[in-house]
Amino acid sequence: MALINSPQTYHLNQKTIFFPTPLLSKTMDIILNLSPQDKFGLSGKENANCFGGILNYKKEIIKVALSVLLFIIIIGCSSDSPTEPEPAYPGSWYSLGIQWAHDGDPYETENFIVYSDAASREARETLADIAEEMLSGLKLQMDIQDNSILVFPAGQRKIHIYGYKNHFPTEWGGRAYFGGLMIYSLDHPERTAAGHTDLDVYEAVVKHELTHVVQYQLLGTLDYNLVDSWFSEGIAEKISESNPDRAVTTLERLESLVATYGELNPISIKRYNYPDIEYVAVNYYYPMFQLAANYLLDPPRNIASWVDVKEMFLEIRNGGNFTSIFKEKFGIELTEFESRFFDLMREYLH
Ligand SMILES: [Zn+2]
Repeated sequence: MALINSPQTYHLNQKTIFFPTPLLSKTMDIILNLSPQDKFGLSGKENANCFGGILNYKKEIIKVALSVLLFIIIIGCSSDSPTEPEPAYPGSWYSLGIQWAHDGDPYETENFIVYSDAASREARETLADIAEEMLSGLKLQMDIQDNSILVFPAGQRKIHIYGYKNHFPTEWGGRAYFGGLMIYSLDHPERTAAGHTDLDVYEAVVKHELTHVVQYQLLGTLDYNLVDSWFSEGIAEKISESNPDRAVTTLERLESLVATYGELNPISIKRYNYPDIEYVAVNYYYPMFQLAANYLLDPPRNIASWVDVKEMFLEIRNGGNFTSIFKEKFGIELTEFESRFFDLMREYLH
């Protein structure tokens, strides 16, 4: 779920929100690895992991397109805002500390319940259809034939989606959590205003977040820190291909990133612990995470498969340790993979 590289404190209760419209189209990768104690609204570097990239990306957009599509929206976006009523229908996303009410008219499909504050019926249905299609693809990819291996939070039978229309979070567009995800609706006013009508972009965001949801369900817990950040994000990026423009597929592209940022080792990012460098998560680490996943899963090295990835998460659910399971599946010690990362990637891309 999301991106961030700076230890900026995130304030959910901010009232003035800078909302660059292009943000809704491209960046929307929003990650979620918040443990129960790392809830939304807390501050600190650890907590900022998912949002830094987005924030930085936002800044970049502001710099580049200040005159184009940025405006300020004054809005209350938390439960203690005087402009928002107390939620009448608490939802699973409250586990993130995001107390956004829904309107009590969810749209339900075989595997999803789409809640919203104000999205149109059509927007809910389309979102559900996209999610069903993406989930079907993910299950096929990971050979998940038996739904019973996917754990739900107590009392929940389907994946929840909150498609928001009248909220304007600046740090993220989509987020995943154990049992569900949040994403802007297809009829979100900013998406429409910015002209970002490309469904491919929206689908990629849904798929990225849904990949995290499935990862959570395979782990069977909210404790996403059982898996190294670089790995869970690399997998989500690789599956969703949500940032094709930033992908590292050539040696030239790799060296260009290294020339800009230095050899920052992506495998050292275990808990979204990005260095405080502007744009570093979205521009550097996410592409590197995906590169690492490509290396591990694509030819010619493909000694592990998507099924192995699924099994990794299941083994961790059963008490396994990421580091030892990584060695077992990929045939290389995690410490060695980290220390030799740039040599291995140069050899791979050459
Ligand atoms: Zn993510």
